[in-house]
Amino acid sequence: MATYREFHRRSITDRDAFWREQAAAIEWHEPFRQVLDYSRPPFARWFVGGTTNLCHNAVDRHLKDRAGQNALIYISTETGQDRTYTFRELHAEVNRCAAVLREQGIVKGDRILIYMPMVPEAVFAMLACVRLGAIHSVVFGGFAAHSLASRIDDAKPKLLFTADAGMRGGKPIPYKGLVDEAIKLAAHPPQKVILVNRGIDGDLKLIAGRDLDYAHERAKHMDAQVPVTWLESSEPSYILYTSGTTGKPKGVQRDTGGYAVALAASMKHIYCGKPGEAMFTTSDIGWVVGHSYIVYGPLIHGMTTILYEGLPIRPDPAIWWKIVEQHKVSVMFSSPTAIRVLKKQDQAYLTRHDVSSLRYLFLAGEPLDEPTARWISDSLKVPVLDHYWQTETGWALLSSLPGIEATPLKFGSPGFPAYGYDVKLLHETTGEEVGANEKAVVTVVPPLPPGCMTTVWGQDERFVQTYFTSFKDKFVYTTFDWGIRDDDGYYFILGRTDDVINVAGHRLGTREIEEAVSGHNNIAEVAVVGVHDAIKGQVPMAFAVVKDASRVATAEGRSAMEKEVFDVVDTALGPVGRPSRVFFVAQLPKTRSGKVLRRSIQAIAEGRDPGDLTTLDDPGGIEQVHSAVTSGD
Ligand code: ATP
Ligand code: MG
Repeated sequence: MATYREFHRRSITDRDAFWREQAAAIEWHEPFRQVLDYSRPPFARWFVGGTTNLCHNAVDRHLKDRAGQNALIYISTETGQDRTYTFRELHAEVNRCAAVLREQGIVKGDRILIYMPMVPEAVFAMLACVRLGAIHSVVFGGFAAHSLASRIDDAKPKLLFTADAGMRGGKPIPYKGLVDEAIKLAAHPPQKVILVNRGIDGDLKLIAGRDLDYAHERAKHMDAQVPVTWLESSEPSYILYTSGTTGKPKGVQRDTGGYAVALAASMKHIYCGKPGEAMFTTSDIGWVVGHSYIVYGPLIHGMTTILYEGLPIRPDPAIWWKIVEQHKVSVMFSSPTAIRVLKKQDQAYLTRHDVSSLRYLFLAGEPLDEPTARWISDSLKVPVLDHYWQTETGWALLSSLPGIEATPLKFGSPGFPAYGYDVKLLHETTGEEVGANEKAVVTVVPPLPPGCMTTVWGQDERFVQTYFTSFKDKFVYTTFDWGIRDDDGYYFILGRTDDVINVAGHRLGTREIEEAVSGHNNIAEVAVVGVHDAIKGQVPMAFAVVKDASRVATAEGRSAMEKEVFDVVDTALGPVGRPSRVFFVAQLPKTRSGKVLRRSIQAIAEGRDPGDLTTLDDPGGIEQVHSAVTSGD
């Protein structure tokens, strides 16, 4: 660990020199005068006075050395379409798109809302925005009209960039009607809508004076050369809303220079990708992982990025590994949720293709339980690295740094504090730093490193209030996650602080009990919540999805299975962690980014209203929980 420790130590104690070196990984138009201005805590300004541009770093700068190399490979198992763009072609497309936006009067500082499926035009639009110094707000395609409307009103975009439809599992999801409805609902509607017509929605109707067809507009600008708008490092690049797992999504504002440097550095120290190689991130451009590691990170680093539109199990559950084989992917990034989907399928799909090009599989987004981590790494025979971050941070907060030192991996741990993060585990009430093996709140002593959110869009006060006031006497950034560090310095995330279960004075993270339940070999997925109890304060209640549903088809089967789960938990955690009940459901309620909505499960289990469900993916999960609880079986 010595090399890692020294690297991390330097990033904190010799901060300016450390980040000055990292900043050399990107191109600056004018050099910065000062590495950090932290005169107004917690607002950090990185690389003060430097001017740069994300699009220049992701695209233009590569024309010199790698114009003919693939930049973007688009694969759609939804439409059967594949398209490939070299850096030269990507540059041309981005310029066309920027020219289209410029013709509509878009200038630096204007907001553009991008509501798009996973198609190359979505990437062109993001890059075109930042090229012009406009601020994009990408909203996950498929969000309902009122979710879209609330994000429109928050960002007040001048223009909305969308498509006729998305596709999921072979079924079209028409966007246009949703967009029209959202614009009707919004108090600050955009003046223009640019629409990419994929030919999916047969009766698409454009509104004269407001809607423009992208193909038609693009055709006017085939040879366009739109100069890059140089931005001061702290000027915003984009707004992105958090997933809304715990409540109302927050509009994270990101800067320009700090973000570019953070991503460039992470490509080397964390992901170990090499320019010219391919990276495959299975997220969606609507999430932070998509922003950082489908679009900006790999491109800034001169890698080929893979944009995949489709499900992990269609046409069959080997599709991802087929892509890895075909494009010699060296770095892959996915989520535990997606791996648990694959885990319900035949393991043989994982060995059908040659994945020897793959150096690492990175996962993030939710706790990665040990059985799932073992299953995927044994099946693939590739190192699987869990790492932990948030929309707010933009890149990993806890991670191993294989580019710095090949520290041994521990299943269930996302590693250690990434460079730049001065992580402290603080006791939730006293705010004192806790020792090894003690559960506490994961916090970061500010300033937050480059790449992290600079504020909540338009609400500086909310930024301070939300993130920096959890402890009376300590000015720290709180992650709202509950964690622990072992004797070797490895961190473990135990769940969200809101979800901590208090059983007769014992504080248990949801993850601890979920991990124990997952130890039963017929459990595919589980959510545990704390339910009010008159005597114990709270008791854990489990909702589990089984692999072999025939075992829970009858009341006797369910009761036998429940007992087995109790035994497994008793052995792993002791009776204090034993759920009061284990309900078997066909699916769990999740956000559209695949995170379990524990707060809604808990509300239903306590007979309350499930609360804000605007980020819910499929109402089926909520109904399942509801009927399990009300039938008591
Ligand atoms: P909201 O903040 O709106 O409630 P959210 O927290 O789900 O939504 P994201 O920023 O997408 O929004 O998710 C970050 C959270 O995901 C983390 O705070 C943590 O709870 C969880 N998470 C991410 N990566 C990991 C990981 N590797 N292990 C455990 N938990 C993780
Ligand atoms: Mg959050």
